[in-house]
Amino acid sequence: KLHNTIQELKGNIRVFCRVRPLLSGENSSEEAKTISYPTSLEALGRGIDLMQNGQKHCFTFDKVFVPNASQEDIFVEISQLVQSALDGYKVCIFAYGQTGSGKTYTMMGRPGNPEEKGLIPRCLEQIFQTRQSLRSQGWKYELQVSMLEIYNETIRDLLSTNKEAVRADNGVSPQKYAIKHDASGNTHVVELTVVDVRSSREVSFLLDHAARNRQVSVLKNCSSLREAANDANCFFTILYRSVGKTAMNEQSSRSHFVFTLRITGFNESTEQQVQGVLNLIDLAGSERLSKSGSTGDRLKETQAINKSLSSLGDVIFALAKKEDHVPFRNSKLTYLLQPCLGGDSKTLMFVNITPEPSSTGESLCSLRFAARVN
Ligand code: ADP
Ligand code: MG
Repeated sequence: KLHNTIQELKGNIRVFCRVRPLLSGENSSEEAKTISYPTSLEALGRGIDLMQNGQKHCFTFDKVFVPNASQEDIFVEISQLVQSALDGYKVCIFAYGQTGSGKTYTMMGRPGNPEEKGLIPRCLEQIFQTRQSLRSQGWKYELQVSMLEIYNETIRDLLSTNKEAVRADNGVSPQKYAIKHDASGNTHVVELTVVDVRSSREVSFLLDHAARNRQVSVLKNCSSLREAANDANCFFTILYRSVGKTAMNEQSSRSHFVFTLRITGFNESTEQQVQGVLNLIDLAGSERLSKSGSTGDRLKETQAINKSLSSLGDVIFALAKKEDHVPFRNSKLTYLLQPCLGGDSKTLMFVNITPEPSSTGESLCSLRFAARVN
C-alpha cells in the first residue's frame, strides 16, 4: 500500500543514473575518492555520492547503474516501458549528460557488437517479437518510424531521402517542420518523413540512413568546410577525410536526436484499438559552455542548447510537481514532445555520468539537474 502511495505521488516520471566505466587512458587514481555508488548490481542501489573539494554530495534516484552494468542489465529495467508503449501509452526515454558520458552508448550501443547493443535496437527487437507473439490472439500492429534532430531550435528530418533538403533545410520555408498537435493528442510535424517498418532490420537500415543525414547536416555547420561541401559531389569522401570522427561526434552532441516509433494496434476479434508512442531521445551534451568565450555560430548553439535543456528540466519539474502551468512552449523539444510528457504518459530520464575525477564539476551539475526532476 505504501508503495502505491509513493507511485501516485511520484507520477510517471523516473530517473535512472548510469555511471560509465573509465575508458583506457583515463586517469583512475582518484576515482575511488570522488564517487561512490552501490557496489554490486544485485543490490541495485539507489544512492550515489559525489565528493567535491572535500564535500560530500548525496543523491538518490529510482536506480543507479554501476560502471560494470551491461546493456542487458539496463534493458531489463526498461522493457516494462516498451510494453507500455505496446499497450497504448506514450513513452519518452531521455539520455542526459555531458558529452562523453555515455548517452549515445546507452541509446545506440557500440556498432558491430551485439552484446553492446543499446536501448533503441533492443526496444525494437522486443516490439517486433511481441508483435509476432500477439498475432495468435488477433492483434495486428502497424509501426511507423521517424527520426529528427533539433539543432539551434530548428528541426531537421533525418530520414529525408533528398540530400539537398537535408543540407539546406534551415529555415527554407516557415511551414516546413512546423509542429502541430491534434485534438486526439497526436503530433504531426509538417513534411517530416514517416516510414512504415516491418522488421528490426528495416529500422537498422533507417538508423544508418539517419546517421548519414546527420553527418551531412553536421558538415553544414563546420564553417571552414561549408564552401568545399557546397560544390562537392564526393560529399562523404570529403566529410570523412577532413572532419574526422571526433569532430563529428563533437558536432552531433550539439543537437538533440529524437527517434519516434508510433505503434497502432488493432485486435480483429475484440475490435480493441491501441495507439502508443515510444520516443527515444539522445540529448545534446549538457556541459556548461562559457558564453564569454564563444561567438557567432558557437554562441547561438550554446544558447539554444542551454535553453532547451533547461526548458526540459522546467517541464518535467512542473509535471512532477503537478503544477497548473507547464511551460511546454519554451523550446522546440518540449513542444514537440508535449503530448508524450504529462497526462498518463511515462517518462524516464537517464542521467549519464563519467567517473573521471576531472569531470566532477559537470557530474555534479548533471546529478543536480536530475535530482530536481526526480
Ligand atoms: P556521449 O554520447 O554522452 O557523448 P558516448 O556514448 O559517445 O558519450 O560515450 C563516450 C565513450 O565512452 C564512447 O567511446 C563509448 O563507447 C564509451 N562508453 C560509454 N558508456 C560506456 C559503457 N557503459 N561501457 C563501455 N564503454 C562506454
Ligand atoms: Mg553522443
